[in-house]
Amino acid sequence: MPQPSCALLTEREETISTMKALVFYGPGKIGLETVPIPRPRAQEAVIRVTLTTICGTDLHILKGEYPVKPGLIIGHEPVGIIHELGEGVTGYEVGDRVLVGAITPCGQCNFCLSGNWSQCGGLLGGWKFGNTINGAQAEYLLVPNAQANLAKIPDELTDEQVVLLADIASTGISAAESADLRIGDAVAVFAQGPIGLCATAGAKLKGAGLIIGVESDPVRMEMAKRMGADVVLDYTQGDVVGQIQGLTGGRGVDVAIEALGTQSTFENALRVLRPGGTLSSLGVYSGKLSVPLDPFAAGLGDHKIVTTLCPGGKERMRRLIELVRQGRLDLTPLLTHTFSLGSITEAYRVFGGREAGVIKVAIRP
Ligand SMILES: [Zn+2]
Ligand SMILES: [Zn+2]
Repeated sequence: MPQPSCALLTEREETISTMKALVFYGPGKIGLETVPIPRPRAQEAVIRVTLTTICGTDLHILKGEYPVKPGLIIGHEPVGIIHELGEGVTGYEVGDRVLVGAITPCGQCNFCLSGNWSQCGGLLGGWKFGNTINGAQAEYLLVPNAQANLAKIPDELTDEQVVLLADIASTGISAAESADLRIGDAVAVFAQGPIGLCATAGAKLKGAGLIIGVESDPVRMEMAKRMGADVVLDYTQGDVVGQIQGLTGGRGVDVAIEALGTQSTFENALRVLRPGGTLSSLGVYSGKLSVPLDPFAAGLGDHKIVTTLCPGGKERMRRLIELVRQGRLDLTPLLTHTFSLGSITEAYRVFGGREAGVIKVAIRP
């Protein structure tokens, strides 16, 4: 048998070792490209992505509001199958189905070992996918620090049941956790977008006594009730601060969750907070944010303001998967649209333009 020539072999290897990926070229410019499939080094893994989604943060990147370097593959919410394991990753096999959090901490630095996994290695350092390294809107994805970040998915759960745990559920639910929400607390959640809806679900899981959602989009108002809100107020139809004070007998809420990232939602969250209450902020603010002094009691109200970046790592994912597996959390209603990777730019248009009642889009490579 004649041996294939080097040229032929190289050509064949090339045809099987490329993948489609969504590349960010600069503000307003993204496109699908054919790029090499990544290969794992020690402590890394490569997964074949079976489902991913688009995040509000990706829209910020596309608009140029959050800078990432041109040429980067974006996206940070992967479900997939292990394709190749690097040296030193143990307890996993090629073919295992896994969920990887949007945040991929190393699990070994001072920040991780202090419990601040999202701030791995320094400020925002846990957020690597589609930020500082190639991301998940691709056929294959290189997972750094794989040992700390690959969460196995139980056979009985579908990709759709777990994909939103990677980011929006982990982030949204963390609002109530960071606030140390107590059983029976009154909670207001400002904005019922994907993160706010998950914050509502999180307040319910933590045992809030009263959950008040604030939103004006009718589809999202309805979804807020499905996720656990007792009352949903439309801020375009009256004074929500006064209404929330009324609903709490003039006391104010114990926990106010900000899930949008604007001055007015931040300010209203502070205005409805009881003395000693906690403002749990999830929003990403741009421009300037100021604290109004009257509801802040000039700094004397015993208020707490806490912020949280999406908790990641495999143990966080395992816990969230368990909520889904036991029937305590169902996020599939939020996946309103499905697109192939080939039509992802269309998915960006629909998601970014909030067309057709879209909440989250599923992208299937
Ligand atoms: Zn995100
Ligand atoms: Zn770390």
